[in-house]
Amino acid sequence: MQIEIVTIGDELLLGFTLDTNGAHLARELAALGVEVVRRVSVGDDPAAIAAAVREALDRCGAVITTGGLGPTSDDRSREAIAAVFGRALHLDEAILERLRERWRVRGWGTELPESNRAQALIPEGATVLENRHGSAPGLWLEDERGRWVAMLPGVPREMRGMLADTLLPRMRDRARSPRAEAPVIRSRTLRTTGIAESALADQLGSLAHRLEAVDLAYLPGWEGVDLRLTARGLPAADAEAALARGESAVRGAVGKWIYGEEGDDLAAVVLAALRSRGLMLAVAESCTGGMLGARIAAIPGASDVFLGGVIAYENAVKMGELGVRAETLATHGSVSEQAACEMAAGVRAKLGAGVGVSITGIAGPDGGTAEKPVGTVCAAVDVRGGGRTFRRVLVGDREEIRKRATQAALDLVRRAIAPDS
Ligand code: AMP
Ligand code: MG
Repeated sequence: MQIEIVTIGDELLLGFTLDTNGAHLARELAALGVEVVRRVSVGDDPAAIAAAVREALDRCGAVITTGGLGPTSDDRSREAIAAVFGRALHLDEAILERLRERWRVRGWGTELPESNRAQALIPEGATVLENRHGSAPGLWLEDERGRWVAMLPGVPREMRGMLADTLLPRMRDRARSPRAEAPVIRSRTLRTTGIAESALADQLGSLAHRLEAVDLAYLPGWEGVDLRLTARGLPAADAEAALARGESAVRGAVGKWIYGEEGDDLAAVVLAALRSRGLMLAVAESCTGGMLGARIAAIPGASDVFLGGVIAYENAVKMGELGVRAETLATHGSVSEQAACEMAAGVRAKLGAGVGVSITGIAGPDGGTAEKPVGTVCAAVDVRGGGRTFRRVLVGDREEIRKRATQAALDLVRRAIAPDS
């Protein structure tokens, strides 16, 4: 089954609100085997809403909208979509009474505002989708050819609740095919870091084309490149089998870069690895100024692995608190693998940790030189006296360089304590 999504609201076009409703719908529908083939956003303009819905209906016959069901003058979806179906609106007394009851329960001590009456206006022949999470009921309109539009509210919490309570069960019933083996859409994500998208593609070579019944997508971001495998149009068991084959082929080719799966945070992966080896961690940060420590502290249960750290921004602090030698700074500079090594060893000794990790770099926008351009970052890890370092030039603005630096330093720790990488 294919579907189109129309999200409605001026705030979406102005860029003030991200269309998280569209994203949520697409993910939930994919899990049901429903393929979203197009998503559009329009403003709170009845003509634009009607045009978008009419075109979507003509193309694929099944449409979900969000937004514009509220009680105010900018909420125009109900009337605009009723007009597409040529249906008049009538006041539904039962819904009005439910709205009045909701209002009483909230204890404002006044009568239901007149403007809420608009939410009890129902197009002829519409099915009302109950909203247990807010005031605006959803609506389902269908024409004589079986083409339908489901209208959901814009408030994300209400939209998600109504989708789960009412619309998904309804679609599941409709989609239930006589065959037990209904096709589904399933995805798996493998998270890589420390390697560029193009280099990953080279290492995967022609594998991407040889993956049977599975599409491979490269999704780069500051954390690294996620590899998403998607199987479409197969029964669930076959889709899972195809994904498992695809995953093992990808792991075979680029496994050394993979640190986790969908939703995994490298900081959590590293903490778990440290915990299982009984190692405590200390951090020394220059250009990231505490960002690495913050990422680690954000993981629940960090306290049994993470001791703390030193923000050593100034050279005086690098020397005074971490024991970095003046000679090292004079010879190699504060952004150097040598300085990073001494920072990592220094913080490990100072805090009595098993593992020390350090970051020093030039986050920009100023301070770059020909030899050390903006983005130059050095990091080091010291594991009970043995260590590794790297020097890399990271891309992005100041914020992104600092975020990429934390990720690269975490990956350095991961590799240093992994048995075989
Ligand atoms: P509405 O139902 O159109 O009155 O929308 C109510 C609120 O829901 C808006 O103020 C937005 O903050 C939010 N909202 C509407 N549409 C979306 C969307 N597509 N994605 C995320 N939030 C939305
Ligand atoms: Mg709106």
